[in-house]
Formats: sequence, C-alpha cells, structure tokens
Amino acid sequence: MGAIIEGLLADIDGVRHGQVLIEDGIIRAVGSGLGKPQYVFGAGCLIFAGMGDIHIHAREDVTGRDNYKETFASAAAAALHGGVVHVADMPNNPAAPIDDASYAAKEQLLLGQRLPVAFTLYAGIGPGTRPLSRTVPYKAYMGPSVGELFFSSLKDLDRTLADYAGQNVSFHCEDPVLLEKHKGAATHEERRPAECELSATRFALAMIEKHRLTGKLCHYSVGEGIRLIRAAKAKGVPVTAEVTPHHIFFDTARITAANRPWMQMNPPLRSPADRQAMLEALRDGTADFLATDHAPHTIAEKERGISGQPHLDTFGPFVTWLLVEQGFSPERIAAICSANPGAFVNPYRSERWGRLLPGYIGSLTVLNLQRPTTVHREELRTKCGWSPFEGMTFPGSVAAVFVEGKPAKLPP
Ligand SMILES: [Zn+2]
Repeated sequence: MGAIIEGLLADIDGVRHGQVLIEDGIIRAVGSGLGKPQYVFGAGCLIFAGMGDIHIHAREDVTGRDNYKETFASAAAAALHGGVVHVADMPNNPAAPIDDASYAAKEQLLLGQRLPVAFTLYAGIGPGTRPLSRTVPYKAYMGPSVGELFFSSLKDLDRTLADYAGQNVSFHCEDPVLLEKHKGAATHEERRPAECELSATRFALAMIEKHRLTGKLCHYSVGEGIRLIRAAKAKGVPVTAEVTPHHIFFDTARITAANRPWMQMNPPLRSPADRQAMLEALRDGTADFLATDHAPHTIAEKERGISGQPHLDTFGPFVTWLLVEQGFSPERIAAICSANPGAFVNPYRSERWGRLLPGYIGSLTVLNLQRPTTVHREELRTKCGWSPFEGMTFPGSVAAVFVEGKPAKLPP
C-alpha cells in the first residue's frame, strides 16, 4: 500500500502543484490524478526531495570516547528535527576511519542501529594513508584539527594524494604553515586569517588537477577565494564548494565579548563583505552545497575555547530564512539542499537521493514558509544542548519529514 502526498513540489527544474506516489519506500510516480492523497500540504508549504547535509560531525566511533557530545542516534534525531534525512559524517574520530578495517568497524557500529536518517561515512586522508579497496568519499585536513588527521606540510599531503587519483576528496582549506605564522595573534579570527584559506585553496585546486581528483572545498568562507573557484570551474576542474549557515548568517561585526566563545569555529567568521560574498556564491551557483559542519561540542567545551557550532536541529528553519528573507528561489534551495547533496552521496549508496522523480527514495522534506520557528534550547535534539540561534526567530518551519514514504516521528 503506497502513500500519496500532495502540494507544491519544489525541484531544480521548477515548482508545480502535484502529487508524489511512494510505494515500498521509493517514488513510483510524480504528477497529478494519481489517486486520493493521504497527506495534503497547503499553499504556504513547499515539498522538497529529502534534504541532505553532507558535512557533519556525529562524533561516534568504536571507542565511544566522544559519545557524551553526540552519537549517530542523537545526530539522527537532530537531523530529523531540522528536516534533514541524510548526512555525511566526517572521519576525525579518536579511532579515525582511514583504511578498510577501521572504516568497516565504524560502519558496523552504524548499521547495527537502524536509524531513520541515512549516514554516508567519509574516510580520512592522513600522512601515509592509501585509498580503501571500496569506493568512499575522502576528507583531507591540511591544518591542525581535532585528532591526528592532519598534515604539517603541504608537501607531505601532495605526496600522499598521488595515490588517490580518481577519488572524491574534500579539503579543509587552511594552510598549516600560515596558521603557524599567525598563531601568536590576539583573536581567533586573526590567528586564522583569510590568507590561510586563500593559500590552501590554490593548493587544493592544484592538487585536484595534478592528481586527477574530484574535489570539494569544505565550509568556504573567503570572498576573494570565490573567483578562484569560479575560474577553476570555468576551466573544467571538477570542484565543488560547501557554504555553512554560520558563514552566511554571522560575521566578525556580530562578535561581542559575551558571545565570542560561541562564535568560534574553523575557518573563523569573516568580514561582512565575505559573508555577503558567500551568500552570493550560494545563490549564483559558484557554491554547491548548504552544509553545516555540525560540530556538537558541549557548553563546557565551548567555554574552554573549542571550535565549532551545532546546526542540524535548525537546518530547515534556517533554509526558510534563505527562501523568505534572502530571496533564494525554491529551485536554488532544491539544488543546494537536495539535488547536489544527493548527487554527492549517490555513488556510495544503493538508493538514489535528491530528486522528486520516479526511482528516487521516497524521503521528503516539507517546509512551511508561513509558520515561524523560534529556537529554544529545550527543543534541541543534539546532545550538546545549545544552538547559536537560541532566542532567534526564523520565518518558517519544518512542516513534515517523510522517511521512505512514512511521516517521521521524532524519537523521544
Ligand atoms: Zn568539519
């Protein structure tokens, strides 16, 4: 027995009133007159193919050492709360997945849990690692991050990447040598200035060409770098870029003495002009993904100066800010939140994500653009228990989430 969902369907090729018929978890038909709908969403709502966040840190691994921050289960609950039905999880765990055995161990942990959100796992590239025997997405950290997975010199990274030809590699772009040079500066932003990201961008683009990688630049934040990405794309270099909610909502002008610890992440907040440039890049197609870099550090850790912000719970409401207040078209939102994240994970999965088309998975994200959301700490599902948006009101909300044709209920 299938389900028929009716309303305004939003995909990359347009918005139209219609129905989606889902059977056995798969979209079987999209159109009109498919039958009597079980679920009807009114004019204030948009039905998208299930949204994906391809850059999160769920923290769980076989050691369980970070389970106090987040687990696959708590990250899945936060994702569903935010209207996100699939995620890709970063590899900077205490037991980092860097080879066949460590990757399989992390995956086993996940598969045992039957969560309502699909997780795609990145493998880490660190000094001396080699590609896995199966196809997975990779992440390379250039500069110091959490854990041991980083290179202190770009020459070492170049040497390691030579073995990864043909692979999909995501780069955290901060030049470790320049970071070292600025480490004595007064503030977090001054210790990680724009030149670190620009230098690393040039390097990453050169590596993508030299080693014939498919590349992605993570959490892009510097306006000046956008023309480098645009030029590389124009030349046919296979590179994409992510932009985070924090880099398009906050900037250095919003940092105060009181909120400074909460506004710390890597790369750091940039100038108001950089923030505008990231918004434009996301709008004009130079950037390809809204990806959160969800980093669930606890309140005590944030007070101690640990970098990162949690963003899964607020993903959908944040998207309504782009739609209603920043004038993003539904088609563009379908691209950066559904179709592009789907295209990113599809090579690694048996099911197909990202479009409202027959054959794709019957998981949907429905946003209501007329019912605002005020963010309250008590309602968050992330284990870390805070949000940079607490007390703020977004213009819309998540109206419903369907997981393989069934309305998702938030786990208690
Ligand atoms: Zn990250």
